Amino acid sequence: MRKKLAVLGGTPEFAEPVPMVRPTLPPREAVMARAAGMFASGQITNAEQVRAFEDELAEFLGVGHVVVVANCTTGLMLVLRCLGLSGDVVVPSFTFMASGHAALWNGLGVRFADSDLRTCTIDPASAADAARGSAAILATHTFGAPCDVDALARLGIPVVFDAAHAFGSRYPDGTMVGTKGVAEVFSLSPTKPLSAGEGGVVATGDADLARDLRVARDYGNPGDYNARFVGLNGRLPELSAALGRTALESFPYWAERRRDLVKRYLAALEDVPGIGLQEIPGGAVSVYKDFAVRIDPGFGLPRDTVARALAAEQVATRPYFDPPLHRQDAYRSFVPATPLTGTERLSRSMLTLPLYSHMDQDSVDRVCELLREIHVNRNEVATAS
Ligand SMILES: *Cc1c(COP(=O)(O)O)cnc(C)c1O
Repeated sequence: MRKKLAVLGGTPEFAEPVPMVRPTLPPREAVMARAAGMFASGQITNAEQVRAFEDELAEFLGVGHVVVVANCTTGLMLVLRCLGLSGDVVVPSFTFMASGHAALWNGLGVRFADSDLRTCTIDPASAADAARGSAAILATHTFGAPCDVDALARLGIPVVFDAAHAFGSRYPDGTMVGTKGVAEVFSLSPTKPLSAGEGGVVATGDADLARDLRVARDYGNPGDYNARFVGLNGRLPELSAALGRTALESFPYWAERRRDLVKRYLAALEDVPGIGLQEIPGGAVSVYKDFAVRIDPGFGLPRDTVARALAAEQVATRPYFDPPLHRQDAYRSFVPATPLTGTERLSRSMLTLPLYSHMDQDSVDRVCELLREIHVNRNEVATAS
């Protein structure tokens, strides 16, 4: 054994904690240069920076319309509001709570669909069952991997994508995530690969929807103070747009570095028994908002024991998404029609490992080595915990 594991009484592998995620910030001077105009004009929200950011995002994504909002949750809420839905929305249970919240805040119900154990995205067969009699589907590109959009499109009801994880990902046909469905909504919060501090990006090919969203993010007020419907204050501050624009300039570089880190993870973990790797659809590209692996029975230890062993080495991890939505208190009244077996297994076994765009390769190698050692010493680790 290379070293004595910290859970077995050794010294931690890392002297400084390895965070699970960190925002990769653009140069301060470049952000400040953009913000200067804001100080000159006194326009500090929803003005020049926001408009420029929207144009640049639309070009980057190759989509007709981009409306930026305060955050992704607001974007999802407003898209569902503008679609004028009633009834239930199909949502995977294996997602972040904001997906379901967007439906519930609109007074809609949720019908949970199961997720596929290999891809971690919504199971098309389960979605088809839940879609009968539902008003729309809200599906997540889990960890950055695009879900099966063609299968969902065939179900005949509007499909909205929670693309919070997937800015910079590509579909199997080569187009960017952001170009499919009625709308796709990205998050610019600090844990996402492109960040503006906070922020949401709605991408849509539907000009009418984009127009409605601009009114919706301003309380539903088109400018004459006669609210057409109940919107929100969903505006993005200029400073956030300046930060986001600057981050977008270096985004392709950092996305490439991030993929290099993932390649390293994949190569090092490939032959560790009991580690299941997320399947990315053939031809698709994931931006890997998270690098999450399955700790399967073959590893010889439960996921939470592995997480504790890594924590002892100063390596931060998270059990995303556990509990899944259908096991959260706020969703108690939405009981799945059939058992969500894929979701249950995913939420029990997925472990998100540290990954951020400017992370060093050496740390990735050492995290992988630790996982290997934890597996090799599984019996001792099980006894010690
Ligand atoms: C982060 C996240 C959101 C929420 O994004 P905010 O910008 O924080 O509102 C929504 N859905 C998923 C899947 C997320 O991971």
